[in-house]
Amino acid sequence: MVKITTICCIGAGYVGGPTMAMIALKCPHIKVTVVDISQPRIDAWNSDELPIYEPGLDEVVKACRGKNLFFSTDVAGAIRESQMIFVSVNTPTKKTGLGSGKAADLTYWESAARTIAAESKDNKIIVEKSTVPVRTAEAIEKVLKRNCSDASVQFDILSNPEFLAEGTAISDLTAPDRVLIGGKIENEAGQAAVDALAEVYANWVPKNQIITANLWSAELSKLAANAFLAQRISSINAMSALCEATGADVAQVAHSIGTDSRIGPKFLNASVGFGGSCFQKDILNLAYICECHGLKEVADYWYSVVGMNDYQKSRFVRRVVSAMFNTIRNKKIAMLGFAFKKDTGDTRETPAIDVGKGLIEDGAQLAIYDPQVKEDQIAYDMEGMMGNITCYKTAKEALQDAHAVTIMTEWDEFKSYDWKEIYDVMQKPAFVFDGRLILDHDHLREIGFIVYALGKPIDP
Ligand code: NAD
Repeated sequence: MVKITTICCIGAGYVGGPTMAMIALKCPHIKVTVVDISQPRIDAWNSDELPIYEPGLDEVVKACRGKNLFFSTDVAGAIRESQMIFVSVNTPTKKTGLGSGKAADLTYWESAARTIAAESKDNKIIVEKSTVPVRTAEAIEKVLKRNCSDASVQFDILSNPEFLAEGTAISDLTAPDRVLIGGKIENEAGQAAVDALAEVYANWVPKNQIITANLWSAELSKLAANAFLAQRISSINAMSALCEATGADVAQVAHSIGTDSRIGPKFLNASVGFGGSCFQKDILNLAYICECHGLKEVADYWYSVVGMNDYQKSRFVRRVVSAMFNTIRNKKIAMLGFAFKKDTGDTRETPAIDVGKGLIEDGAQLAIYDPQVKEDQIAYDMEGMMGNITCYKTAKEALQDAHAVTIMTEWDEFKSYDWKEIYDVMQKPAFVFDGRLILDHDHLREIGFIVYALGKPIDP
């Protein structure tokens, strides 16, 4: 088995950066180089202002950067000197052509594979870190083998999907539930590659939590994990609609069912909908793969999870408009939170985008505040709508003279605000629409707010 002393990772994003920083921290004997085609991103990784916000990440990067952790745009050089190459490039949903809106776009992956093939002069272990369609390793192997000028170079491909969640990436990487490594365990070389990667993780992950599987199982497990997680959110969100219609309380329902050990309490918070770069794209990809295998009914089952999420967002918009007497034209609506979840600045597929667009279509003026999302990101996400949006650096400014406030992200700081003071500076009647169920609704009602909380009994 090869002893790994040099690793590189192609793609310095939300996954590549933190995962490699953790390997560098836990394996001081391994030189880890993270490369990217984006110069600004690499410059940021080499600066005091990292390109992503993630609690604890600064400390980990600072502890090893310049020692055994390096960030560079020299993709070719990093490939040449590394025994093991992780590929953690983006795999978004295809925007055009066959499978448009559903299939994974593997353009970046294929391009990375072609560069690996061109630069490799000795044997390499290639690790799929990106989330990819099942059987991608087969396609990648063809690209690698047929583009490498030296036929004696051997590529062993592994699948090592990443299960970290943004906002808790460092604690997830420090103590993962499991590490999954898929490889060609049926042959000696494949098993040796799996063992080499397992040995890297064994520097800090208990051996019984390092699971091995065949390549296709590992690739599919990542899509399955995200589909199951998103399906749980859509299930509780479906319940939230029924709770509002019947007078039940979704938090009480979630607590009641979550104490059943077969169900468990996690991921049962009703909300305005799931977001992030992964859930929707991975379910659509999974459903598309099912379609391609003639499994229409299975595909439809998974599409319905995304359909429920879209419904929840539009239902929230309808609630806001109807509660405010069906007229929100020119009314200032404060949107607290824009990131798709707390403790991240990531806005990819955040429900705030669809909700914001829905409110603006009805004529609202949005006042947006998020502690980690910058105005230029909001301008990018809400392109063409900035005439109806003002971004603020404090919640206080966003709330001044607002008719309503919508809670879009569960940032802890929103819970600690003085809501009486807020009430006093807002227009009356003042509305709170809690899309994350984080506020004390009884207290808000005592103050004088009209409150709409997802899945909770509606104010008369
Ligand atoms: P990202 O967009 O933040 O980062 C991808 C990076 O790859 C970008 O910086 C891009 O410039 C770079 N890149 C693209 N092509 C390249 C090439 N040919 N050479 C060098 N660099 C290249 O994406 P991400 O959020 O880090 O996700 C990466 C993968 O991990 C995706 O497949 C995603 O589904 C998966 N994943 C993401 C998360 C998450 O929470 N974000 C969690 C688990 C898995």
